[in-house]
Amino acid sequence: MIEKWLSPSAKTFLETVATYLPPADVSKLANTITYADEAHAGQRRQSGEEYLIHPIATAGILAFYHLDTATLQAALLHDVPEDTDRTGPDIQRHFGKEVARLVDGVTKLSQVRLKKSWLASLQASSDENRSENFENFDRHVETLRKMFLAMSHDIRVVLIKLADRLHNMATLGSLTPDKRVRIAQETLQVYAPLANRLGIGQLKGQLEDLAFPHAYPEAYAWLSEKLTSELTRRERYIERVRRILLKRLAAIGIRAEGHARAKHIYSLWKKLERHDRDLTKIFDLVAARIIVPTVEDCYRTLGLIHQIWKPLPGRIKDYIAIPKPNGYQSLHTTVFALGGTITEIQIRTPAMHHWAEYGIAAHWAYKDSGQAPQKLSWIEELAKLQQTLSDPEEWKKGVTLDFFQDRIFVFTPHGDILDLPIGATPIDFAFGIHSDLGRHCVGAKVNGRIVPLSHSLENGDIMEVLTSRKASPKTDWLRLARTSRARSLIKRSLDLNRGQTKRKGELNGR
Ligand code: MN
Repeated sequence: MIEKWLSPSAKTFLETVATYLPPADVSKLANTITYADEAHAGQRRQSGEEYLIHPIATAGILAFYHLDTATLQAALLHDVPEDTDRTGPDIQRHFGKEVARLVDGVTKLSQVRLKKSWLASLQASSDENRSENFENFDRHVETLRKMFLAMSHDIRVVLIKLADRLHNMATLGSLTPDKRVRIAQETLQVYAPLANRLGIGQLKGQLEDLAFPHAYPEAYAWLSEKLTSELTRRERYIERVRRILLKRLAAIGIRAEGHARAKHIYSLWKKLERHDRDLTKIFDLVAARIIVPTVEDCYRTLGLIHQIWKPLPGRIKDYIAIPKPNGYQSLHTTVFALGGTITEIQIRTPAMHHWAEYGIAAHWAYKDSGQAPQKLSWIEELAKLQQTLSDPEEWKKGVTLDFFQDRIFVFTPHGDILDLPIGATPIDFAFGIHSDLGRHCVGAKVNGRIVPLSHSLENGDIMEVLTSRKASPKTDWLRLARTSRARSLIKRSLDLNRGQTKRKGELNGR
């Protein structure tokens, strides 16, 4: 599928959307392409190709998931405000509020970036401070993931950003090695985990596999060499298993489909790292996947398999009764199959298969019922998703709805991020960075404009603290501060000043 969208044309894109959208929407999209083409006229990507290929590819990936027209339009326009002289308001005039809002969301998200210095400190780690640097790095990427979601407001913005990244990853080759590593790490640490949390297994696997060779070239070279012969051998073997199973299932009246599923190379690598890099310990390198019509058929199929081949104890997993946190459902079993070879088999219905590949994207897909796709607000949707997204492993670091509802993310001019409560002011920001910066703060610039210290900061603001050596905290700052950190530092500083004035007074009096 990526191959198809590597250098797509407007024509193939419009043909694809015509398979599921009404003609009126197709012509809307054709107009949007014309607008984007004019806006980007004369621009080329780093690879030298015409710029328009990128937005069309981004929209094309989303068309593969059958997303609604507004999302596709926003995907076609996603780089317009940042890279051309056409503005957000101009987009709104042409295409309406919804499209403009989605484009604006994507534009804002471009601030969410893995900092080069974080990566450098991780790579330069000596053995003593290695784990500490890893912890810092983990905290940094976790903040990035939270910020990414908190700033999106609409899941469709996240989907556009993921598609944008997928195409960028597929065309990463033309960038400098430094940039490639940074973007590949950002993809592995921020984008792929988000795709996974949203249940879009296919996208997650593609993002990781495209990033892997850039992020860990040596590991990739080692593993891909080992895999070439092994994969074909195991795929041939699974094919034999599949044929036997389908025949036996047909005999008891179950019409099944099946295919061999090779594990994505990056997730295989992560698993290998936990198993001493020993490929013989990985039983699901290639798994047999059996798709049967109903849930009942799933359990009957499992029973049949266990009658034919003995299961490996402790490896039978019922993700139908107990779905994975991201909504994934299937039955998994590992059996001693042909010649006693340990073999993983996954059993699921077509609907479960659909969710496993498309996840939340399926939920936003255009539904041919005359109704617009569901447009729940992002927060409502996340509330619903919470149950499925509440994997204690993945989310234990405090990614909860509460967290998002009352937090904002503000940047320093150097791109560092501060996470603050809603309603936070420049005072909170200054003290949040350093107590000295807070104490000597006289004013603030937000997005290049001078604002009063009472100014309410907003998500995505870039803030600069203006200081003077002589300045010191005032009592009314306590009223302006929202964070307990700023409050207590202000109080301490006021007490100290009072103490000094008093002492001075006493001295003078003597
Ligand atoms: Mn882009």
